[in-house]
Amino acid sequence: MLSLKVIKKLKKIVGKEYISVHQEDLLSYSYDATQVTSLPEAVVFPGSTQEISAIMKLANQYQFPVLPRGAGSGMSGGAVPIKGGVVLTMSRLNRILEIDERNMYVWVEPGVVTGDLQEAVAKKGLFYPPDPASLAFSTIGGNVAECAGGARAVKYGVTKDYVMALEVVLPTGKIIHTGHKTIKGVTGYNLTPLFIGSEGTLGIFTKILLRLLPLPPAKATLLLGLPQLELLPHLLNKFLRFPEPLTAIEFIDDLCIQCVENHFQLGLPAVEGLLLLEVDGSEKVVEIIVQQVLDMVKTSGVKVIELAWAEKAKKLWEVRRAISPAVFQLGSKKSSHDIVVPRAQILNMVKKIQALRQDYGLPVLCFGHIGDGNLHVNIMYDETEEVKAQTVTEKVIKAALILGGTISGEHGIGLTKARFLSWEINQPTLKLMQQLKQALDPNNILNPGKIFLE
Ligand SMILES: Cc1cc2nc3c(=O)[nH]c(=O)nc-3n(C[C@H](O)[C@H](O)[C@H](O)COP(=O)(O)OP(=O)(O)OC[C@H]3O[C@@H](n4cnc5c(N)ncnc54)[C@H](O)[C@@H]3O)c2cc1C
Repeated sequence: MLSLKVIKKLKKIVGKEYISVHQEDLLSYSYDATQVTSLPEAVVFPGSTQEISAIMKLANQYQFPVLPRGAGSGMSGGAVPIKGGVVLTMSRLNRILEIDERNMYVWVEPGVVTGDLQEAVAKKGLFYPPDPASLAFSTIGGNVAECAGGARAVKYGVTKDYVMALEVVLPTGKIIHTGHKTIKGVTGYNLTPLFIGSEGTLGIFTKILLRLLPLPPAKATLLLGLPQLELLPHLLNKFLRFPEPLTAIEFIDDLCIQCVENHFQLGLPAVEGLLLLEVDGSEKVVEIIVQQVLDMVKTSGVKVIELAWAEKAKKLWEVRRAISPAVFQLGSKKSSHDIVVPRAQILNMVKKIQALRQDYGLPVLCFGHIGDGNLHVNIMYDETEEVKAQTVTEKVIKAALILGGTISGEHGIGLTKARFLSWEINQPTLKLMQQLKQALDPNNILNPGKIFLE
């Protein structure tokens, strides 16, 4: 319980207009994109690294939990204040500090929205590739904390591939700097990757240096219809072997197609699945790759539903991004997973998911980044089907592990997957992870109750 004395001290640090204990604010910061909720005791809007450092020192002195929060779009409960305490929202730290066009990097504060950053650098002919489907609202701080991925990861990788340096406030309040402004740099231990994907448990990012690429001048998107799922492994392998890589290889299964069709009435054909491919680069390269795809599918029975060039492709990607909300037609509750399997196992995983539909009578659907072996599996259910949904969840996780995969490709462990962590990671490894947490956060102040079962 936060005492009045602590609230007073917090007000002194950030200013009284930047802290709230009003019920409506506590409610607004009690959830993320999972359906788990827990009220904080105060919401604080810090305006600088120094203020965050002072808050962390206070938290250690008075032993209250602190939870950094971006846009609250996380899919594993990372931003849910399960132990109460203070939610530290990054909304005031939302400036793009410096776009260095010659060195091709950008310094940002953590509260910058991913899509806003992409637009700002694009105006200068530069490109920040990571593209989570939440890019219109998720923040760079949250992206780094979850190591967010996206459709373009096939060609460009994920958030970790772009973070060059970090300013971090440690749970004790100390301020550290990791990484380099230079492309190369091997001085001391490489601490930056330790913080990427640490889910708000090891430190609070207050400044982030990101690498930029030249903006590709051309792109095209293809929507393909799969008459049979059995074509998937062959097509995927062929696409991955193109000398010039495809940018994105997304899969959408039959149930997702139905949901999207109900929503948009696009007149999609009755197929077992869709593939959404993106190609980018110079105009010449894009034309060559598109032709390669068209030549390849001509002989395989795959239907080319649409080929869109440049901006016209936006509509197709809106359809892809609409899947997450559209699937609520199939159930009021969703158990959402982002398992990854070795790419050669994609068909086996999709088949397993479809078998679970039959076995348990629940709509279990999948879509996602099959170019990386990453499938979003959604188990849709209603209040009365909770137990059945839990059983199906366990079967999905086990199937991914049996196929040589991992339980999370981009959404993190947070709260919702904590009980599965030991299914994948052995005890000595888990112990080492917990020792690292303990070394950086001896009083377990920062985002307690996440990743590890307590
Ligand atoms: C419709 C939809 C589509 C999505 N699509 C994708 C997708 O394609 N790919 C993908 O990877 N994810 C996706 N996500 C999940 C989510 O958007 C990402 O995990 C995103 O990175 C979270 O950013 P956020 O700002 O919302 O962070 P939050 O949800 O606010 O926080 C997430 C975690 O980051 C920590 N955190 C936040 N800011 C900081 C900071 N400054 N320092 C340290 N820790 C911090 C929090 O404590 C928490 O543990 C999607 C979510 C939705 C709702």
